[in-house]
Amino acid sequence: MMNAPAGEVRRIWGLALVRLTLWMLACGVAGYLLGQTAWALLAGLSIYTAGHLLFAYQLHRWLAKPRIEPREGVGVWQEIYTELYRLKQRNRRRKRRLKDIVAEFQASTEALPDGAVVIDGRGRIVWFNQAAAVMLALRAGQDNGQRIVNLLRHPRFAEFMAAAAVDGTMGELEIPAPANEEHTVLLRIVPYGDGQRLLVARDVSDQKRLESTRRDFVANASHELRTPLTVLRGYLEIMHEEAGQGGALDSWQRPIGEMSAQSQRMGRIIDSLLRLARLESEGLQQRQESVDVPAMIQNVVDDLRRHDGRAHDIVVDAQAGLYLYGRASELESIVSNLAANAARYSPAGTTIEIRWQAEADGAVLAVTDYGPGIEAEHIPRLTERFYRVDAGRKASDGGTGLGLAIVKHSLEHHEGELVVDSTPGRGSTFTARFPYRRLIFDDAA
Ligand code: ADP
Repeated sequence: MMNAPAGEVRRIWGLALVRLTLWMLACGVAGYLLGQTAWALLAGLSIYTAGHLLFAYQLHRWLAKPRIEPREGVGVWQEIYTELYRLKQRNRRRKRRLKDIVAEFQASTEALPDGAVVIDGRGRIVWFNQAAAVMLALRAGQDNGQRIVNLLRHPRFAEFMAAAAVDGTMGELEIPAPANEEHTVLLRIVPYGDGQRLLVARDVSDQKRLESTRRDFVANASHELRTPLTVLRGYLEIMHEEAGQGGALDSWQRPIGEMSAQSQRMGRIIDSLLRLARLESEGLQQRQESVDVPAMIQNVVDDLRRHDGRAHDIVVDAQAGLYLYGRASELESIVSNLAANAARYSPAGTTIEIRWQAEADGAVLAVTDYGPGIEAEHIPRLTERFYRVDAGRKASDGGTGLGLAIVKHSLEHHEGELVVDSTPGRGSTFTARFPYRRLIFDDAA
């Protein structure tokens, strides 16, 4: 049904004006004949106004109580009522369409394997789908309108929600499923609209199981390889000592030397793999303590100076009394791997700077070298296992390809991150950043 076009509206109102004129004329003539022109005009106008008032009253009543339909209108009122009927029907159709869309949306989100929870600006549950009900143990009806942090009582969840509210970014959190502790759910927050958030929950148990199978395999394989390798290394070392002493092994001196070096390298790779497997399986729950980072840096540097064949000039600038809450062995592996890389990849005699300092939002451990630097395209991949910028480089440089992977995992245990700044041809700075809440200031130092 279409609205009356503008021309039609004009015609109807024109007609109404003509009718009014004729009516007033008729009243005037009747009054004139009766000798009461003024009274007749007044009566005519009053009747006309009363008629309009009656229809206006009907309209008002209809708008206030749509169930009481007005009687048929006359003249312009008939048209006005018709237009309003049309409007009402259109609205009804629109409502039905919206209802269908909502029903379709709900049906499709119910079919989603991921849980979805709509949360309002005050953290209350507005709506959730069936998968969310199952995964997060939410009860339909009962839990609507409840604050989500009162229902998901994992210690890190409230923090996670608060962080998402503050910076409005998408965060991720893995927690044991409230409905079944053996399952793991990955939670994501997607902010939208005016303070609203969508909480998406995914069951990642299978993925976790697969990851742990892979981890166990690598750990077991490394462990199994250790014993035979120790035997080989033992014999190779003895043979290496004997070769060159005028015996039968003399002509084998070089190959035996090479085999001995390679077997030592294999040993280092296996140790690193085991270390990585341990880092991955141990969570943040590990015992942590206040670690004297300046002293630890000094130990690492002393050790490096003793073994650094290229005699670098190592400059340490560590803020005295700046301690870090964490695990000493992991923090030491961060410093020693970054320092060893700086020494390994920069030319003899160049400077290596190690800086440990508190900044406005945390602390930084920065290791700078004046070596060849790294092209930007490689930087995002450096922490991958066995990733090497120069794949063809000789293995004899002592690297295992796992150092930065260990740094990354150790940093994750300390809520830290690794930032790499590098200019090819100039050098690189590897910076480990730690959050402020982990710093301990020892004023006595
Ligand atoms: P690797 O045992 O081979 O050093 P890492 O995981 O420690 O393994 O480092 C990965 C790769 O990153 C290295 O093979 C090297 O190509 C590059 N790299 C690391 N540190 C530096 C550095 N300070 N300067 C230049 N390249 C570096």
